[in-house]
Amino acid sequence: MRIGIDFDNTMVDYTGVFYQVALELGWIPKETLPTKFAVKQSFLDANNERKWTELQGIVYGREIHQAIPFAGIHQTITTWLNKGHELFIISHKTKYPIIGDKVNFHIAAMTWLEQYQLVSSLGSLSTIAKENVFFNETKEEKIAKIAALSCDIFIDDLPSILMHKSFPKQSKKVLFDPKNEQKLEQQYSELAKNKISHWSTLAEHY
Ligand SMILES: [Mg+2]
Repeated sequence: MRIGIDFDNTMVDYTGVFYQVALELGWIPKETLPTKFAVKQSFLDANNERKWTELQGIVYGREIHQAIPFAGIHQTITTWLNKGHELFIISHKTKYPIIGDKVNFHIAAMTWLEQYQLVSSLGSLSTIAKENVFFNETKEEKIAKIAALSCDIFIDDLPSILMHKSFPKQSKKVLFDPKNEQKLEQQYSELAKNKISHWSTLAEHY
């Protein structure tokens, strides 16, 4: 089988990182709740969306090393590769941030993948081959890549990607929802049956 995997918030667990980085920069009050949502809200309440955009650039760039892989991911990837599945990482990620220091997000993400031994240049029975990693500048390009690679399954944390009008019909949609926080609106209800909250569950299913 050909399995496509999203990167941010599907492989990378940013829990607590937005809070930590914003706090270190002195951009939020200490008593802000440590969730991404609360941190974002704190900027919006202060009418400072620009600063929020800048913070995202810092987290996805030079501070990505503070984020860790989701639990169970290494084992699942090894199980899949040993079963003979072909694995692809397909991410929507611009090369540079809109605001702030010009850190190359693609290099930062690839470095993170290699550091955690999820990707290596030749690939192996426990790592995805570097040539199977695709960063796409737009959401539309990402979806076109999922179709071009004929993924049998695609795993993503965003319902808006899986339910996009151009998402390939032959690819099975799997919603990754680690905190079980997605309240699926009517138009996304078909995702409820293919929702998983832990990587180890994936290895059991596919
Ligand atoms: Mg994502």
